[in-house]
Formats: sequence, structure tokens, C-alpha cells
Amino acid sequence: MPAETHLFPCLKDNYGVLLHDTATGATAAIDAPEAQPIEAALKQKGWRLTDILVTHHHADHTQGISALKQHHGCRVVGPEAEAKRIPFIDETVREGDTVMVGDLMARVIETPGHTAGHISYWLRAPKLAFVGDTLFSIGCGRVIEGDAQMMWSSLLKLRELPDDAQVFCGHEYTQANIRFAWTIEKGNQALAKRSTEVDQLIVKGQPTIPTTMGVEKAANPFLRADLPALAEAVGMPDAQAWKVFAEIRGRKDHF
Ligand code: ZN
Ligand code: FE
Repeated sequence: MPAETHLFPCLKDNYGVLLHDTATGATAAIDAPEAQPIEAALKQKGWRLTDILVTHHHADHTQGISALKQHHGCRVVGPEAEAKRIPFIDETVREGDTVMVGDLMARVIETPGHTAGHISYWLRAPKLAFVGDTLFSIGCGRVIEGDAQMMWSSLLKLRELPDDAQVFCGHEYTQANIRFAWTIEKGNQALAKRSTEVDQLIVKGQPTIPTTMGVEKAANPFLRADLPALAEAVGMPDAQAWKVFAEIRGRKDHF
């Protein structure tokens, strides 16, 4: 599949991502944290903005929409459940809907928890997942509008994606997430390996995103709450997975 991605920093620790269909020239911004760096990225790549695919309504994912819409007249797609809170929205989507970016087909996966209507976009052919603030590398989003059970179900849906899926998330939080994850799973070799890799990227000033689903399944404690070892580690043997998840999320909130 002729898909190209381009990732770049926005605001303090957000990422902007462009998804480009080389066949048709169509280009989507995944969220719009900040118009100026998105414009600069478009210019650098020589791409024309046709679409904005929004994951959720938070300002650090939507505040660039208005300027980009005015300049490019691009289509704005976002979650039906949050349509009222997303400026200039043209098209609303829900679970299972497809969104075309040129010839590239993205499928919508509803992943509520961080916000009540949060969605992720999955492109099966180039194996790209855009997960906003639901899943981070070695972490997950804060549960703000939903509850822990809801967030755990959302993470389970993302965990179904293949190991070689590339995962683009909304923020560069990886190093801090690893510091926390280490308090939960001290002996995890996959986590140790990711930690070394991430330290090297950060030293070089490079992003730790995208990650892969395979790495996250092996090293991200928030995707591992249904393993007996994790329940054991937080002192909740035999507890339901979502309760173990809630405990880990709660500890991270106060870390
Ligand atoms: Zn958010
Ligand atoms: Fe965010």
C-alpha cells in the first residue's frame, strides 16, 4: 500500500502525524494539536492537506483545526459522540465505519475511557494504528471521562491488532512511562530492551513513536493486566483483569 507517514513534535509533548496516499496525493493530519508545525510539515513534504482525522475533543488535539480548515478547506472527520465539541466537523464516524484518505482505507475503532467518545483509526493494509490518547508507548491515557473497565475494554480492542502494526500515539511520554512500568514489572526483559532503545532515541533527540503492537504487548503493563504475574505484582491475585488495570492506572496517576 502506498502510504507514507510523517511525524513531528507540536506544543510541549504532543505529536502531529501526516498520513499521505502516494497514489492520489491525499494527505490527512491525525489530530490538529497546532496549525503552524502542521503547515511546516506539509510544506516540507510538498503535500496538500485534504483531511483531518480527529481522535477526541481535547484542545491539544483540536485547536489547530480552525486555521487549517480556513487555509486548506480540508474535510474534518471525528467521533460522532463528540461532534459538538469538535470545531468545523464535517463528517462523524463510529465503530466499524471506514474513512478514505485518497485510496487508503481507515477503519474506526471506538476506544472510550480517556474521553467518552475517543476513537482510533486502523489501516489494515499498511498496518498503521492512530490511537490518540488511548494507548501510549509503555503507558495509556488517563481515564478522564470513562471508567477503568471501559478503558480496559478499549485497550483489549487495540491489543487485537497484529504485532507488526505500527502504533502512532498523541504524546511523547515514553521515558516517564518506562520509569513507572519498571515499578510494576521489574524483571520484564522486553521492557528492559525497550528502555535501552528509548534512552538511545532520546539522547539523539529522536521520537520514540511509532511503536509496534508487539513491543507494547510484551512491555506495556497496561496491556498486561490480565496476566497472573501482573495481578500478583500489585498484590491482587485472582482479581478480575479490569480491577488489576484500575489499580495500575491509579498508581500511575500518583507516581
Ligand atoms: Zn487527550
Ligand atoms: Fe492529548
